[in-house]
Amino acid sequence: MNKGLPILILEPASNEKIENTARKLVWEGRQGVKITETINLDDIKRLLKRIREYSRDNANSLQRELETNLANKFPQTTIKSANDFTDAANYIVEIADGIKIISTNNSRLVTHELRAVLEASGFNVINSYLNEFEVKGEKAIRYWELPYVFDKDLRGAFEVSARMEGLEPPAASTMETRDYLAVLGVNAVSAEDGTVVLLQHFSNILRDLKQARKVILVIGVDKIVKNSEEALFQAQCTGIFGLESVVLNIPSQPRGMTSVTELAPISIYGNRELHIIILDNDRINLLQSKARDLFLCIGCTACNLQCPARLSGKPLSPREIVLNLKKHLHEFGVSFLEEGKTKTPPTVHHQTLGDGVITGDEIWACTTCRACMEACPVDVRHIESIVGLRQNLVMEQTVMPDTVKTALRSIESRGHPWRGTRYTRTAWNQDIGIKTVAEDRNFDVLYWVGCTEALEDRSIRVAQAMGKLMKKAGIKVGFLGDEESCCGEPARRLGNEYLFQMQAERNIELLKNYGVKTIVAGCPHCYHTLKNEYPQFGSNFKVMHHTQLIAKLIQEGELTIANNVEKRVTFHDPCYLGRHNGIYEPPRWILRKLTGTNLVEMGQNRNKSFCCGGGGGRMWLEERIGRRISEMRLERALETGVSILATACPYCLQMFEDAVKAKNVEESLKVMDIAELVEKSALVTPDLGACKAQALKKS
Ligand code: SF4
Ligand code: SF4
Repeated sequence: MNKGLPILILEPASNEKIENTARKLVWEGRQGVKITETINLDDIKRLLKRIREYSRDNANSLQRELETNLANKFPQTTIKSANDFTDAANYIVEIADGIKIISTNNSRLVTHELRAVLEASGFNVINSYLNEFEVKGEKAIRYWELPYVFDKDLRGAFEVSARMEGLEPPAASTMETRDYLAVLGVNAVSAEDGTVVLLQHFSNILRDLKQARKVILVIGVDKIVKNSEEALFQAQCTGIFGLESVVLNIPSQPRGMTSVTELAPISIYGNRELHIIILDNDRINLLQSKARDLFLCIGCTACNLQCPARLSGKPLSPREIVLNLKKHLHEFGVSFLEEGKTKTPPTVHHQTLGDGVITGDEIWACTTCRACMEACPVDVRHIESIVGLRQNLVMEQTVMPDTVKTALRSIESRGHPWRGTRYTRTAWNQDIGIKTVAEDRNFDVLYWVGCTEALEDRSIRVAQAMGKLMKKAGIKVGFLGDEESCCGEPARRLGNEYLFQMQAERNIELLKNYGVKTIVAGCPHCYHTLKNEYPQFGSNFKVMHHTQLIAKLIQEGELTIANNVEKRVTFHDPCYLGRHNGIYEPPRWILRKLTGTNLVEMGQNRNKSFCCGGGGGRMWLEERIGRRISEMRLERALETGVSILATACPYCLQMFEDAVKAKNVEESLKVMDIAELVEKSALVTPDLGACKAQALKKS
């Protein structure tokens, strides 16, 4: 009898799980009654990351330790190390010994990596997890048709609901044995004592362990951790960070899928059998490669839950990108993970990239908003992978949407990505009179106007407002005028690393030649690039966003504003200002100065802000699939009942201007940049004198 192997089953801590969890999520959540969170999420993330890094760095030795301990402590459990799927499938055929029905849990290793080879080997594979749900047509019905849940306080705790030692003998089980094989992917296993942890939300795994004639536990080598405490913790994290996804994203059950409960009970006279397969499938190799960080992923789905592309119905799923890359890395190669380090295109060996395992629609859907990375408990860097894949499409395969091609060509030939602009780089300054740095080298701050605020119809008003404010504050400011060229951000996000680096090198040389020390940029994309990416090419300018400069000028008394905006205002955090650079407070501080208590927050704000849909080069891509991200965000703004939607990014401005028109709310909601609002409220400043013009020098 195969007794002994410790098996822990985790479930959300809820008495009547099915209905209660749903009620908690929907009703109590909406009414503000929150499930108490006893542990700090940041501490959880830190500990989980440590566990995952140890696992990643010691995969070989952990595997050896697990194999030795299993063989010594549980001699009745057969253990097999499989190099790949075929190896594993052959072994399963051997164990099945004529059994034709396999029940699996919802583990991706089983459903995505093994299922196809098992079906090809003649098994009828059913996913018992899906049997838990009532499905009508293509949609799961009842409580899992829930709205998206954002609040971390709504996450449940996952606790051990069942402990087993191997498989119970038939007589001890209240369930009858049936003639099928259960193939279950495990969430974590302890190398020290073999404790296996499985995560279930209802009863499918426990039922399989109690009634399947034979059970095979499949362990991906990246799921092996040091001890049972860490195994339990890792599996709990998968539940904690992915709870909503499990409840909200249940795939529909294939039509006519068999349920194990339909199988007739059998009497068996021998013991039920427990087997273990430790599956490598290239994991050990990849764990030593540049792609090793992808193996920190625990598959919790937290990234998917925040992804605006996915939530708006586009085919992108950041979790699937990570898991597909892991699965197919040996075909793709790993050089695409070297974003930004080389001008040469990354090599991706898979012929069908862009139209196969990872499609062009997925690759181009990303707005690089960073919501996935913010949510990920183990800091997987999704954007690097997605941009790396774009680089391969653009630089190696020259396969890209026409609009991308046009924008890149425009940067290359005209130094900006916009088609058919009627402005020059100096038009915004016509009535303002700021000198270019070529005309007057006596400046303290360089105003980096950016292609959009210099050349795009709506955004030009932001540059004008900013120009007037800087003059009013008495700053010695200059700008590059016709010498300014695209910072290269769209080229980099759209995958043309070569073009980005050309622009960066050219601009850095120009700025250095003019002796620039401090730059203020109105566009968070320019700001991010100049501040965080140009230093890779030898720059060390001090870079400020215009909201930082405005806040500083007001704080230091260089700019006086009236508290005269009586309308209610909400602020949309641009992704490249907020999540990418942590600038959340200066814009709010300014708005509170202007509006008093009339600043109203949207539900998703600061690091939880929902993208406008324009980042990652999406300004130059058509939004053909799913809902418009900007309209989804606008709906949240409209719910607050404000009259002004303020932002601090020309991309956001344009996206929301279009959304306001599409939703026909132009009369009731104005979209404005903070610089425009301040400019309308700025009072005529008394003669400041020369010393006042030194505000920037003080910092
Ligand atoms: S960066 Fe934003 S759009 Fe791209 S995958 Fe992550 S969440 Fe989705
Ligand atoms: S990438 Fe991070 S957030 Fe996404 S499934 Fe993996 S661990 Fe979870």
